Amino acid sequence: MLTKYIFVTGGVLSSLGKGIAASSLGMLLEHKGLKVAMMKLDPYLNVDPGTMNPYQHGEVYVTDDGAETDLDLGHYFRFTNSPLTRKSSITSGQIYNEVIRRERLGNYLGKTVQVIPHVTDEIQHRILACGNQEKDTHVLIVEIGGTVGDIESLPFLEAIRQFRNMHAALCLNIHVTYVPYVKAAGEVKTKPTQHSVQALRAIGISPDIILCRSELSLSTEVKEKIALFCNVRKEAVFEAVDVPSIYEVPLMLHAQGAEEIVCSALGLHGKKIDISGWQGIVEAMKHPKGALRIGIVGKYVQHQDAYKSIYEALSHAGAALGHKVTLERHEPEEFVRLLGEDDFTPADGYLVPGGFGDRGWEGKITTAKFCREKNIPYFGICLGMQVMVVEFARHVLDLATANSTEMNPGTDHPVISLLEEQRIVTERGGTMRVGNYPCDLKEPSKLFDAYGTNKVIERHRHRYEFNNSYKTAFETAGLIVSGSYTADNLAEAVEVKNHPWMVGVQFHPEFISKPTCPHPLFRGFVQAVVHHKTHATAAHTRN
Ligand code: GLN
Repeated sequence: MLTKYIFVTGGVLSSLGKGIAASSLGMLLEHKGLKVAMMKLDPYLNVDPGTMNPYQHGEVYVTDDGAETDLDLGHYFRFTNSPLTRKSSITSGQIYNEVIRRERLGNYLGKTVQVIPHVTDEIQHRILACGNQEKDTHVLIVEIGGTVGDIESLPFLEAIRQFRNMHAALCLNIHVTYVPYVKAAGEVKTKPTQHSVQALRAIGISPDIILCRSELSLSTEVKEKIALFCNVRKEAVFEAVDVPSIYEVPLMLHAQGAEEIVCSALGLHGKKIDISGWQGIVEAMKHPKGALRIGIVGKYVQHQDAYKSIYEALSHAGAALGHKVTLERHEPEEFVRLLGEDDFTPADGYLVPGGFGDRGWEGKITTAKFCREKNIPYFGICLGMQVMVVEFARHVLDLATANSTEMNPGTDHPVISLLEEQRIVTERGGTMRVGNYPCDLKEPSKLFDAYGTNKVIERHRHRYEFNNSYKTAFETAGLIVSGSYTADNLAEAVEVKNHPWMVGVQFHPEFISKPTCPHPLFRGFVQAVVHHKTHATAAHTRN
């Protein structure tokens, strides 16, 4: 069986939600019984986004095999069952790195090494390798980062042009554009879409399908105009209007018959589609029986996407438990200031996400102390777990100077210290403890209650760890190690014994939560938040 290829490009603006559009299409094709794989090509020169500031790039999504990738892979995971590995996320940095490595080896002796064909060949090679990862893949959906017209993405676009030239019957191009509503004129405008399609055609790529992002629904006339000027069939112009939840996008595309057009264009024959399960989840999200306020205390809360998977995982668990989760995002310093105000009303639960470096560190410790003392549910992820350990050491074990050696290398109580394997590491890129490791759970524990099993596999991304020489002291005082990586005797999860729900994990459960399968720990946390809210309200009413 020959794999088919769908290339998704973007025009007019960045941040159009190409990743959500590609994932939604992947989800619909899977619901037709097809086997889908997804891939992202990013034009920047970093080898991976692991070394970028979250303000530049948003979240770094980690795969099972430890690749540090673009956050769109998180959407692919949440919407589809695509294999996601280091083959699924490619950057210009990786491509050039490989071509230059080969040039130094002498593999091109005698030749001038050029973008065409050497770089474009390598890109095509990677596309094929991703599509061939698993047997019997019907479709590989390849999303090309950036916007048509950017200098950086040209080699990728040229590579897919060549690819289609060789495999015309196997390929489909979808162009995602923006159709703005101009208030002064009282109408939507198609010109930017026309121009971006012209730019694409100048490179030699003609879109087969145009997906128009817009604030308002598009009339038939507008769609016909786009079809005419952009040289596509009018049935192949779809709209994707702003919707409250990203999980509604597949439903919107399905209502327009998008998956059928794609299947008929590629000669794919799937079964009759049934998306009632997904519709049920969207309904649960739209009609919650209650609402919860969850505080996120982290350095990058100003950026929409820096903690993307965490926000999504909370919404999955909320929907499963019939609650809408309203996020209250705080920078740590700001949270400390709020705590000092007379009319401060705490949220129903707090989550401290992962992070690096000391900005905001003390504010996060104050958050953990507040939650521990007030019996408010607390969920610490990666750095958020380390915060919990240092807080407990300082205020329960009375080790006032306790710290992580990441924040104070000279601390006299290094309750969090550099992993043994990290002591010899000098390079920054791709050198953390990343990807899947098994974790054994202690029974009884909150962790065990949440998972209902005593062995799990979770994804990691860190350099520092719980210092086992303090373990007995912690456990005697009531902070237990409830999850461990037994092979290296590493603490992977801690929890406060006499607290409704105060759990910290060294790994990143947020990466493997789906709307169709909320992560057990997020479910456990949100359940505890519901419980806390109900009891706090009851106590308040009694007073
Ligand atoms: N900075 C911490 C470490 O490297 C936590 C990392 C994280 O939160 N991802 O261990």
